[in-house]
Amino acid sequence: MESQGTELFEKALEKGIGTIAMKPMAGGAFTKQKLSLKYIVNSGLINVAIPGMDSIEQVIENASMGDGTEALTAEEQEEINEEVKILGNDFCRRCGYCKPCPEGIDIPNVFLFEGYVTRYNLPEYGKSKYEAMPIKATACVRCRKCERKCPYNLPIVNKLKHAVETFKNI
Ligand code: SF4
Ligand code: SF4
Repeated sequence: MESQGTELFEKALEKGIGTIAMKPMAGGAFTKQKLSLKYIVNSGLINVAIPGMDSIEQVIENASMGDGTEALTAEEQEEINEEVKILGNDFCRRCGYCKPCPEGIDIPNVFLFEGYVTRYNLPEYGKSKYEAMPIKATACVRCRKCERKCPYNLPIVNKLKHAVETFKNI
């Protein structure tokens, strides 16, 4: 999803400093998990990837990607590019540049908690975190100040609306 760290990783490698890819599947948003790990293995820049796993099968499948020495094919790279393109318009990176919302909504956390529901299969937990927020997404007055600041041009207002629906349906 993000490649701006490449130069830094190269420098780390040069200096013998280890690197860890945290959230290598974009916090569960990236649907082609095996390709994501193959991409990381092939990059030659990362020493360890630490995807979240919730079953023994996932551990076995993910670990097996570390054995592979096969190069990423052009088709696979294209598949990755396609997914990145799609997610690019919708995926909150939690950078916080949209803050502060004049109404006090913690925008990235709304999307994080929605992700617990939609991606991590933790509906009750996600909803409880959202319910505990002092100011809910429903407080949005659609001023769009946040959208003007989001470097990824995310449709924040619509995404907040979507999050409200997600929590309502649990
Ligand atoms: S559009 Fe909504 S979420 Fe964004 S800054 Fe305005 S009130 Fe806050
Ligand atoms: S600026 Fe955009 S990507 Fe960054 S936290 Fe806000 S909504 Fe997410």
